[in-house]
Amino acid sequence: MELPFSEPYKIKMVEAIYRSTREERERWIRDASFNLFNLRSEQVYIDLLTDSGTGAMSDRQWSAIMTGDESYAGASSFYNLKDAIWDITGFQYFLPTHQGRAAENVLFSVLVKEGDIVPGNSHFDTTKGHIEFRKAKAVDCTIEASKSPSVWHPFKGNVDTEKLEDVLKTTPAGKVPFIIVTVTNNTAGGQPVSMENIREVSALAKKYGVKLIIDGARFAENAYFIKTREKGYAGMEITEISREMFSYADGMTMSSKKDAIVNMGGFIALRDEKLYRQASTYNIIYEGFITYGGMSGRDMNALAQGLYEGTEFRYLESRIKQVEYLGTMLKSAGIPLIEPFGGHAIFIDAKNFLTSIPREEFPAQTLAVELYLEGGIRTVEIGTLLADRDPLTRENRFPELEMVRLAIPRRVYTYRHIEYIAAVASNVFDRRHSIKSGLKIKREAQIMRHFTVELERL
Ligand SMILES: *Cc1c(COP(=O)(O)O)cnc(C)c1O
Repeated sequence: MELPFSEPYKIKMVEAIYRSTREERERWIRDASFNLFNLRSEQVYIDLLTDSGTGAMSDRQWSAIMTGDESYAGASSFYNLKDAIWDITGFQYFLPTHQGRAAENVLFSVLVKEGDIVPGNSHFDTTKGHIEFRKAKAVDCTIEASKSPSVWHPFKGNVDTEKLEDVLKTTPAGKVPFIIVTVTNNTAGGQPVSMENIREVSALAKKYGVKLIIDGARFAENAYFIKTREKGYAGMEITEISREMFSYADGMTMSSKKDAIVNMGGFIALRDEKLYRQASTYNIIYEGFITYGGMSGRDMNALAQGLYEGTEFRYLESRIKQVEYLGTMLKSAGIPLIEPFGGHAIFIDAKNFLTSIPREEFPAQTLAVELYLEGGIRTVEIGTLLADRDPLTRENRFPELEMVRLAIPRRVYTYRHIEYIAAVASNVFDRRHSIKSGLKIKREAQIMRHFTVELERL
């Protein structure tokens, strides 16, 4: 028989998690005003809130921490990281930052001016925030297929090159500082972008004389999808594919809390020395000297090691197949999902799960609360609460999709945990018709309300 794949690591250290009772959870979620961000982590049995900074570091990463060099300037840890970034991305220049959004802040301080247009594929919310904060505009050019929950497309995160060329053609010269391609496309559900698409976008960037920047938070997962889905890449190493992806770009921003498997960190990597020098000034103002930029030496060491581990095929295979395993089990229970499954998370289509709850009563948040009550699982709403109110009319905005995201931390949970999650979700699905009403807002902030909102049951 064909041997199943299994995790390419074993466990050396464990952390206890508490399996609470339903009565405890009823009390805790009421005290948290039905907002899962308000729960203490001890009140959560399996935490699927995010895959960002929640991964488990390896013994090699922990030992790299012990040899971190904490010198202010020119630390060996900085050079270890520089070497790793060169090996994996082919970018010669790099600046450390404390996390991904800090990399955006530094690089965009050089590149983005008031009135600019920055096209891309579903900009991540902090990316969009850093563009809009500078009174520039982010224009989403993701392919139409990304908007339909069940349309199967191998690279559903792709840029629509016609939409992109339209933007480039109609925007006055000098008003597009760069195109940003996010791999994988997080906002569209962890969907990959093909090499062919990156190549086409790069050709358009050259044709119109604009830069191409890659938001590389999940570049290794993207490379895995290219290897397994795109013609011509099956025989290539993940690092070779990564280098090719980055070879089409002028630079990248990175949230190392994702594919570099560290708990905190980020960087900017660039090809052009002049741009690097300009960004260095902002790095010094906002983050720290150019050889540490908000990171301690030990953390840069762990990050360098994490970049190598995060681009190992066996590791990526076990991660992405674990996510897929969860999706397959939920699907066979009849639960409506967004397909194909993304790299880092499974998204439940809450509108089609809780069909009798109107959108004014937040079906996705109601479902997230039910998953918590059923089995102590913390997920996150990506729907009407997250979409906020229209800034002018103050009416609720109802996005196309009402989703609950189950993000899987890296190397943290076992297959048995995944089966537990699936059982919890199918129990809720089996009793979905008994969930007859949703939630109502008691108090909310002016913007970004989902973090602090207080809700009550109807
Ligand atoms: C997480 C993330 C960021 C921001 O990074 P932080 O480390 O959270 O500041 C930017 N882009 C993408 C695609 C991300 O997933």
